[in-house]
Amino acid sequence: MSVGTSESYDVVIIGSGVGGGAVAITLAGSGARILILERGERLPREAENWSPQAVFAEQRYRTRETWYDGNGKPFRPGQFYFVGGHTKVYGTAMFRFRERDFEGVEHAEGKTMPWPVRYADLEPWYGKAETLFGVHGQAGDDPTEPPRSAPYPHAPIPHEPIIGKAFERMRALGLHPFHMPSAVDLHPGGTCIRCGTCDAFPCRVGAKGDAETRLIDPALKHPNVTLQTGSEVTRLIADERGKRIVAAQYRRDGKVLSVSARLFVLSAGAINSAALLLRSADARNPRGLANSSGVVGRYYMNHNCTGIMALTPFDVNATRFPKTLSVNDFYFASSASEKPLGNLQLLGKIQEPMLRGALPRTPKWLRTWLARHSVDWYVMSEDLAQRDSEVRVRSDGAIELRWKRSNLRAHRRFVDVAKKLLKDIGFPIVLSQPFGTDTPSHQCGTARFGADPAASALDPYCRSWDHDNLYVVDASFFPSSAALNPALTIAAQALRVGSHLRARLREF
Ligand SMILES: Cc1cc2nc3c(=O)[nH]c(=O)nc-3n(C[C@H](O)[C@H](O)[C@H](O)COP(=O)(O)OP(=O)(O)OC[C@H]3O[C@@H](n4cnc5c(N)ncnc54)[C@H](O)[C@@H]3O)c2cc1C
Repeated sequence: MSVGTSESYDVVIIGSGVGGGAVAITLAGSGARILILERGERLPREAENWSPQAVFAEQRYRTRETWYDGNGKPFRPGQFYFVGGHTKVYGTAMFRFRERDFEGVEHAEGKTMPWPVRYADLEPWYGKAETLFGVHGQAGDDPTEPPRSAPYPHAPIPHEPIIGKAFERMRALGLHPFHMPSAVDLHPGGTCIRCGTCDAFPCRVGAKGDAETRLIDPALKHPNVTLQTGSEVTRLIADERGKRIVAAQYRRDGKVLSVSARLFVLSAGAINSAALLLRSADARNPRGLANSSGVVGRYYMNHNCTGIMALTPFDVNATRFPKTLSVNDFYFASSASEKPLGNLQLLGKIQEPMLRGALPRTPKWLRTWLARHSVDWYVMSEDLAQRDSEVRVRSDGAIELRWKRSNLRAHRRFVDVAKKLLKDIGFPIVLSQPFGTDTPSHQCGTARFGADPAASALDPYCRSWDHDNLYVVDASFFPSSAALNPALTIAAQALRVGSHLRARLREF
């Protein structure tokens, strides 16, 4: 296939999610010519954004790609390719990982790997990320919380009545529920109108603090930054020595084009970045780019997650923005377990069309009743990195996701503990449903960073050990997954990397 030539830039960023967006905003205004290549388009603001029928039953925004699991079974992954990446549909929970997450944590099924950076290295960047995303929260209520050098940018979002009741009842049991940090513009004068959707839905009024509104659009105000949508990068090309990346090949409008640059930042998301590095294998890099250590595509992690519907048969749950409460009393060892169990938090409000997949044989009236009477929770436990938990590329080019799950005993124990707790605070019936391989929402770990080039793909600034001018800046770099939502940690490290790059732009 012939490859058309196109322009040359100083920096090419592949992907406009949290990782790519945070690097872009840090380099904006530097004078370097920056091109962001994004395979998706802008997600349209339209009535369907808030329709559970369109979003869940019809899967309007989910990719139509086919991936395969480890048994060769095809599935349509929960992947969303738009400017802003997965934050266009995320639930706005913006957590800092805990200090011990960076140091290695002993779990029932093994110890996690220490990170090559510590919490203190990321602390200032966490603060910057919270400011950029407009995070609401309250320090001081959660005993696992790490130290912070500044308060949250916005006051916590008040609990709506039924959530407030759960909060008080948990406190009465001696637990430490806290206001979940959230990046939604929900305060006096803010743009959020409590639409009643949010988690897993796009925001029709731009009130969600996502990577498009908070990073990409502000970066594009600078004349040195260009965003090109509908441009799927299919291959990175290394020079004859195999050491420097010289071009990115991409598909746009049915044509194959190529762009050259001095510096490449790969931020296509943990699964797609790994797949792209593997697809870019050449004679000098036969196992794929950035992969002399053999870790690219390996150590894939996603959290162990279960949704719980806690039913209030005599009350209708009229909550419009439920994601205000979280509990970390079981995050490390606790009276419920000698080993960590994970984080419990509220999920977005479940509505009837969202239950059709999980409860296809249940009559509609019953699904409707369940949705009206439930308070919905998310139980999240750490997934431990395992070498044979893998992203592979099949001979036909499709992605094969061989997720080897871990730490499931702890997760099942946590689900039992959470169900008992919810019963104890007044929900007589609790139903649960685990999330599966086709929901790689918290994907990470597929190009881990580290201090040892033989055991990691990236150095502590996310630079490939093998290619001086290639950085991989998305959730790929995580050596462990912690048991908290990943977006703020991706953003913090990406801002740190962006600042490092800005100081060194002339070196490339
Ligand atoms: C429903 C849902 C709810 C979530 N809720 C939360 C939450 O509340 N809190 C939280 O912290 N996290 C949450 N997450 C996870 C969070 O959204 C992700 O961890 C985060 O957005 C990942 O950012 P990223 O930059 O690593 O990758 P991505 O967001 O995947 O960005 C990658 C970008 O690259 C583009 N791309 C991919 N391949 C190519 C290619 N070959 N060429 C060009 N462009 C490419 C993609 O279209 C995308 O825009 C949620 C995720 C989902 C799906």
